[in-house]
Amino acid sequence: MRAEIIAVGSEMLTADRVDTNSLWLTQQLNLLGVEVQAKHIIGDHRQRLQDAVAQSIAAAPLVILTGGLGPTEDDLTRDCVAAALGVAMHFEEPVWETIAERYRKFRRTVPEINRRQAWILDGAEALPNARGTAPGQWFTLPNGVALILLPGPPGEMKPMFSAECLPRLQRVLPVVAIATWQARVSGMSESELDSLISPVYTQYENPITTVLAKAGDIEIHLRAQCATQGEADQLVSELGAKIDALLEYRIYSHQGDPLEKVVGALLLERGETVATAESITGGMLGQRFTSVPGCSQWFEGAFVTYTNRMKASLLGLDQQKLDREGAVNEETAAAMANAARRLARSHWAVALTGVAGPDKGGEAHDPGTVYIAIASATVTLVRRMNYPAGDRERIRQFSAQTALHLLREAMQGRLI
Ligand code: ATP
Repeated sequence: MRAEIIAVGSEMLTADRVDTNSLWLTQQLNLLGVEVQAKHIIGDHRQRLQDAVAQSIAAAPLVILTGGLGPTEDDLTRDCVAAALGVAMHFEEPVWETIAERYRKFRRTVPEINRRQAWILDGAEALPNARGTAPGQWFTLPNGVALILLPGPPGEMKPMFSAECLPRLQRVLPVVAIATWQARVSGMSESELDSLISPVYTQYENPITTVLAKAGDIEIHLRAQCATQGEADQLVSELGAKIDALLEYRIYSHQGDPLEKVVGALLLERGETVATAESITGGMLGQRFTSVPGCSQWFEGAFVTYTNRMKASLLGLDQQKLDREGAVNEETAAAMANAARRLARSHWAVALTGVAGPDKGGEAHDPGTVYIAIASATVTLVRRMNYPAGDRERIRQFSAQTALHLLREAMQGRLI
């Protein structure tokens, strides 16, 4: 089945508020085998809301609205849905009594204005609100289209959906089995990855493939939907195996684990340890390592050496040389890694030095130039990266992710 979601509220058309309700609803609907074909955000505007409802009920067999069920003038959802459907509303005494009771419970007088919330579409079923005053509504059109009105506050909307809508949807929807598969990939760009795997996954309408890219980190998600679990499992493992064969070692996790956790597990398995010397990332790598429980077994610590003076005093680098020649070069990265490894007495060390920008900060290189060094007892490797300039945070995130990627590559013998 397909669905559309309409989030109502002018605040979500500003830069301050995000419509998170439809993300949550999409996740819930997907678990039921329902695909969301469109999401709309409509401000508190009578005609536009009425038009949006009319369009959605013509386009999908399930339409969910959130928000605009409050008691004030600008809460238009009830009126606009009634107008779009061409149905009247009636005042439901038991609903009003529930609202009034809620106020009495909190020893407050019930405002008359809240009577609006007891108006229910003719033929609709009121859905109790355990966390607030506005009831939801469930209306089934003569052609079978289901229209659901839910309150806007996520703390009211979620429990109402789970308690009232989920069981009803489960009754009317065909039973579907869902199987999922995921992979996390590092060391390639989204376009490289897509040109490699899209010839394969585009041959399948089921499972659905989603590719999500962050800085230096790509997630691939497969979701199959079938009548039986066996069929769904079979489909995701068939396509998953084809993707595995194309990407091989570039996949670092099938469990959704972040790269620092995977690298940590690798170190633990080998009984080895790592230390970092960080300039451009200012401790991000150390932060990522220490977010993994049990990391003290394989992470020695981070030298956060931002200025030349700190690179000299903590790591023993030659400050005059750094001042003269700059700190963003292959030699500095290698010296930082070797010093960190020696001082921490670790098996491995990772060092990063670069220009995060937005300006050059006195360095000879353009922002986005980063040197990453990996040192072990036998070898020191340095890679120069050139990230697009402009976004300081993104350059730092890319750097940390690439450093983890290179460490994994080096440990598995692919860099040497
Ligand atoms: P109320 O009875 O509280 O007025 P309502 O159904 O009228 O309920 P709104 O007034 O539209 O809901 O929204 C109340 C608050 O709920 C908003 O200020 C916002 O914080 C939150 N909210 C509304 N819609 C969404 C949404 N789609 N995603 C996330 N938060 C939302």
